[in-house]
Amino acid sequence: MAGLNIVFIASEAAPLAKTGGLADVAGTLPLALQHLGHRVSVILPYYRKQIDATGTSVRATDKGVDIWADRQQWHCPIHEAESNGLKFILIEQDELFDRDGLYGPPGDAYADNLLRYTVFNRAALELSAHSDTAVDILHCHDWQTGMIPLLLKSQYLHYPAIARAKTVFTIHNLAYQGIFDADWIGRLGIPTHHFHHDGFEFHHQINCMKAGILMADEITTVSQTYAEEICTPEYGCGLDGFLLNHTHKLAGIVNGLDIEAWNPATDTHIRANYEAGKSGGKKVCKQTLQEKAGLTIDADAPLMAAITRLAEQKGIDLLLAAAPRWIAQGYQLAMLGSGDPHTEQQLRELAAAHPDQFFFRSGFNESLAREIYAAADIFLMPSRFEPCGLGQLMAMRYGAVPVVRATGGLKDTVCDFDAARGRATGFHFREATIEAFDAAVERAVAIYRQPAVWSRLTGRAMRRDSSWQASAAQYDTLYKTVLKRR
Ligand code: ADP
Repeated sequence: MAGLNIVFIASEAAPLAKTGGLADVAGTLPLALQHLGHRVSVILPYYRKQIDATGTSVRATDKGVDIWADRQQWHCPIHEAESNGLKFILIEQDELFDRDGLYGPPGDAYADNLLRYTVFNRAALELSAHSDTAVDILHCHDWQTGMIPLLLKSQYLHYPAIARAKTVFTIHNLAYQGIFDADWIGRLGIPTHHFHHDGFEFHHQINCMKAGILMADEITTVSQTYAEEICTPEYGCGLDGFLLNHTHKLAGIVNGLDIEAWNPATDTHIRANYEAGKSGGKKVCKQTLQEKAGLTIDADAPLMAAITRLAEQKGIDLLLAAAPRWIAQGYQLAMLGSGDPHTEQQLRELAAAHPDQFFFRSGFNESLAREIYAAADIFLMPSRFEPCGLGQLMAMRYGAVPVVRATGGLKDTVCDFDAARGRATGFHFREATIEAFDAAVERAVAIYRQPAVWSRLTGRAMRRDSSWQASAAQYDTLYKTVLKRR
């Protein structure tokens, strides 16, 4: 099968617009697919404020689409941008997309999100329908694009360019399902024939995630363990029973990392570059961060870090509860994160009480994130659930040993020290309790105090192959398999 024409449709993609791991996947998996000979483009809303702030050069085209929704016509001029040789198609609709946040104010959501993303979905389908080359795969991501397979199959199949396209729907996080009042159905012209319990209805409301699961030709999620977990009541967020009916088309494919963009040997944001086996540069980065953050300059104090959305999922409550004990032990903590205002306040208070040991910066700051990955000895991810997680991949690449809760992609990508010393890249704990987390941190610190063993451990973490190569090959096989089912 020759190279395929693949269209990614996503609500965020690095480096143009990013709030989390979805952006990393939507911006880097296409590059790996291009290396395999496919033609890939990425359709995004034109979040003017955020995208322009990245300095990306955006070109207006002479194309535009008009979408009817909520008794109104929405004119959407089309723009193009390129980054790393990847083509981005941006759908302009300033009233809907040019806002201070991608999805809402910090910790909140815009009330008209279903309108925003339905206009986006329809515009992406219109564009694909009028594409010069027939589309083979429409690859949709998370609830914001969950309606696309349904809209395609009920309203767009008369366009030859997409009539034979297959849909792949990737679940990056089942906890965010896109649930809205049923009265939007009429207002947005969403087909009603699947609005029932076995369809996209959920407690009398619209559930966009369910629509994607129901109507996509293939569903993937971002690790094998998470694919299994979401079919259980503990992790299924109310959709485990529904997912069990669709496991015949569900696959888990672990995320990769753009290992060129995330490389301590070439990263221009960090004070000194370094590679596995040569730790001098990392020591410089640690001291640099300690100076910048106002922490005690101490090469021996274990420097632990977390870079995360501040959401319940991430287990920051466990970290907050255990932190006073770690501070009493003389450990240091550097945290970067934004989200829940209450958690931000607690972190700010802890930092104010222990400025020489606890650093907290709120906000989204990729440059500082890189400095922290490079400086840290230990990286903390006590997630209650974690579909894949990219923080631990970045941490390993930068020689910060992850301590993770053994769930989802964390379990699949970090090899526990006690389970297999010769292959270990980090430390696991199982129960989401303060005691279990604390015990794992203590295991990590005990090994940190043995420089020769620690050096072998960090070297293995840094050399771990976190590239997209193996996972892109799995997507390649999946696309070709679903296309054979014409
Ligand atoms: P999620 O997608 O659930 O937020 P992941 O671990 O998959 O979690 O991805 C998080 C990504 O976002 C990583 O690339 C991490 O470095 C980045 N990130 C999270 N919070 C911040 C922040 N405040 N500033 C900079 N980067 C951040």
